Parts: sequence; C-alpha cells; structure tokens
Amino acid sequence: MNKNKFFSIIILFFVCFITFQITLPAQQNEGKYVIVLHGGAGGFPKDATDSLKNAYLNSLSEALSIGKNILENGGSSLDAVEKVINYLEDNPLFNAGKGGVFTSEGKHELDASIMFGKDLSTGAVAGVTIIKNPISLARLVMEKTDHVLFAGKGADELGLKLGVPVVHNSYFHTEDQYYNWLRSNLPKQPGETVGCVALDKQGNIAAGTSTGGRQNKMPGRVGDSPLINAGTYADNKTCGVSATGIGELFIRYTVAYRISALMEFKGYSLKQACEEVMYKVLPEGAGGIIAVDKDGNYEMVFTTPAMFRAVANSNGIFKTEIWK
Ligand code: ASP
Repeated sequence: MNKNKFFSIIILFFVCFITFQITLPAQQNEGKYVIVLHGGAGGFPKDATDSLKNAYLNSLSEALSIGKNILENGGSSLDAVEKVINYLEDNPLFNAGKGGVFTSEGKHELDASIMFGKDLSTGAVAGVTIIKNPISLARLVMEKTDHVLFAGKGADELGLKLGVPVVHNSYFHTEDQYYNWLRSNLPKQPGETVGCVALDKQGNIAAGTSTGGRQNKMPGRVGDSPLINAGTYADNKTCGVSATGIGELFIRYTVAYRISALMEFKGYSLKQACEEVMYKVLPEGAGGIIAVDKDGNYEMVFTTPAMFRAVANSNGIFKTEIWK
C-alpha cells in the first residue's frame, strides 16, 4: 500500500467516525425507555371484591401494554402518553372521559393537559363538555394553535373546528358515578383521574393528565390537571410528572414544576425531589404523583391509602399496583 492510499484510508475512517458521532444523538438513549401511569390516588378499599380489583388491574395492564408497545417499537413518548390516556378515558372505571365525575349540577366538565420535554411545548383544555378524548384536544392545542390553554365554550368549539370526536354530555355518565353523586352532596375525596409519563428511545420525556375533576365541584371549577406546572410537567433536562389528588393543593404548591425545579436548581435526585414534595411540602392525604427522569429512573409516590399505578421499562419491568 502506498503512502497516499494509506492516508486516504485514514481520512475515510475519520470521516465515517465523525458522521457516526453526529448521527449518534438519534440513538443517544441506548434503546432505553420507561412508562409510568396512574389511575388516580384515593381510598380504594382493601376489601373490594376480587372482580372489581381485577377489573382495575386488567385495565391498568392493558393501558400499560399500549404505551409499552409504542415505546418498544421506537415510537415517541408523546404518542405513548396520548394513546394510554385515550384508553383510560374510554374506560368507564376511571374518572376521565367516560366515567367522569358529576358536577354539583349533575353534568360533566373535563380537564386535560399534555407537555413535551424536548421543547417545553404544552397544550391543555379545561371544562370541556362534549370532547370525547380531552387529552387529544390538548395535544392539538399544543400542535395546531399558538396558545397553550383553552377553556369552556371556546375549547369545545375548538374541538368542533379541529374535527375531534364529539359526544353529548350524557355520554360521560356512568351508573357508578351517578350513584356516588346521589349518595353525597359533599366534595368526594379525589380518585381515578388518569395520567401517564414516558421517556422514549430518543431521550424525550412527555407527560399528560386527564380528569373529570372532583365530584360535586362547582360549575366552572378548574383543578390542577389542565394546569401545566401544577398537575403536569415535562422537561428533558430533568423529568416528567403527572399528579393526582386534591387539585387545589397541587395548584398552590406548584407540585409538578417544583419537582423538576428541585432537580434542576438543587441537584436533587428524582426520588429526593418527589419525596420532598409529597411528604414535606404537601399535607398528608393530598394525593400522589408519577414521574420519570431523563436517565430512566421512575417514582410513584402517594400519601393516600391507594393509587392505581403501573410501570414498564426496557429492563423488563412490567407491573401494576393499587396499595402501598
Ligand atoms: N386532581 C384532580 C382535580 O383536582 C382530581 C384527581 O386527581 O382525582 O381535579
């Protein structure tokens, strides 16, 4: 081999190496993914019948499989979060979409938000009354408008304009929630709100939350779920969070963002940040959070007796749980 040929080969080698380095960010997460979801924090009784318990566990497991498959096949965390929440919104066991709680006037007003940690883009809807899947409209707010949050009539009208599936308000009605509502004219403890947080193979974190709110809420009341920073947050630099519980408390204490801020500004680990906020900042019984960080760690912390929850990751974890 002459000298020139030798140098050409060396140069070619370096060009290939540099090209490989440049394209590497696309695979920077080394195929790692994580998905966590919740179906609300509350007081689900330990003596519930096996059939009811299994109905919840099976639903959590089906929702988890939807998200896991998307992430395993290289899909985006945003798709995983939206599709998991769509499933839970369509499932009458949960207080989101069909199965949402009743307001004090006997109607349904639904809230949802979604956030993408790559560029901090967010979309949210509050008090929608005819949108079958509020999380999907929240995503369209994020992707198709210059705004972040639509409320009430304007949000319903946006849904009609963007062509999302709409339903009559009575679609959200379920016998169980109606019975709960008839039995009590006091705000019920929170429960069965749904949320999901995922880290995909590209290293992007997304988080979303969807709810019917709190039973017997006053018409027009908005909780934490559609409020970015309170009920939902995602930043690739730190973590993604979805909350469930007494929304008024999660708003006052800026819970989802506070967890991210503790990591960003105080160097807390995900576990330290979640535990600080849930155990030291919020009062006992306020609710729970699920969270995933940029390295693939996850947390599911709650101070109620139960929180429907599930986790799957690329290390083979796949589990669903209800109590502590
Ligand atoms: N956080 C929701 C709200 O206050 C309720 C819940 O999580 O159950 O609207």
